[in-house]
Amino acid sequence: MATPDGPDAPPAFDTSQPTIARVYDALLGGKDNFAADREGAATYLKYVPDAGRCAIENREALVKGVRYLVRTAGIDQFLDIGSGLPTQKNTHQAAQEINPEAKVAYVDNDPIVLAHGRALLATNNSTIVVTADLREPQGILGNEEVRALLDFSRPIALMIVGIHMHFNDEEKPDEWVRTIMNELAPGSYLFITDFVDTGEPLQKAMEQAGLESLGNGWIRTPERIEQHFLGLPIIPPGVDFLARWFPEDPEGDVPDADDLQPYQRILMAGIAKKS
Ligand code: SAM
Repeated sequence: MATPDGPDAPPAFDTSQPTIARVYDALLGGKDNFAADREGAATYLKYVPDAGRCAIENREALVKGVRYLVRTAGIDQFLDIGSGLPTQKNTHQAAQEINPEAKVAYVDNDPIVLAHGRALLATNNSTIVVTADLREPQGILGNEEVRALLDFSRPIALMIVGIHMHFNDEEKPDEWVRTIMNELAPGSYLFITDFVDTGEPLQKAMEQAGLESLGNGWIRTPERIEQHFLGLPIIPPGVDFLARWFPEDPEGDVPDADDLQPYQRILMAGIAKKS
């Protein structure tokens, strides 16, 4: 356990066990991880040699979704829960390069995200990072920093990108999301990516890797992923594999699902709108 040193020191981190945020960082080729996290990433790569490319495609989908939300949907407020460690292009960068006024509240329950986020955001007045837990949605809704940054009387995009797989259905993750969506103004959006189960061996291998390294990482049928959207209408092209999912050009020239590499059929994305 690393020990804090002085009042401004970062929180202590248990580096002996892998965490989701740090294993994901290792898969993305980042440097904010420790030996146990790299072991966790190695387990993923053992089962799914292209696991790093899956992580990169998930980040690309995040940027595609944010661009749609800012440019096409006119959203200028984001609540990005399970935001992860800062990486190459983050939600605030994707949003603020289109609308410099866009506001982003990052929420993650791993304190290392706060420690690294603060350094990145020191000079950005439109973006904050707080430590809070999706499993306690009222804590996020009542968080003073979140409330000070985001105007809940206007539309907000809620991002739950790459988190559902870390909870099994018995925990009822959709209910935590519903609690937050209920507080958002009409015109708000819900943006989700999740691991999918269409019966392919590599999808099952991804689940096995997660269970072995982190104790979670379940896959779900596309029908079950659609239920994450709480009955809200899903914008075109609906819920689809990341490489086929282009919300800014849903009728464009997308690859046939059968032409995708098996690793490209592990994650799906979608965005729904609250009216
Ligand atoms: N959203 C980013 C993306 O898609 O690139 C990061 C995804 S990463 C796979 C999942 C993130 O969710 C991690 O940073 C982890 O710490 C965070 N997380 C896991 N459980 C959480 C919870 N209960 N509350 C908030 N964040 C959580």
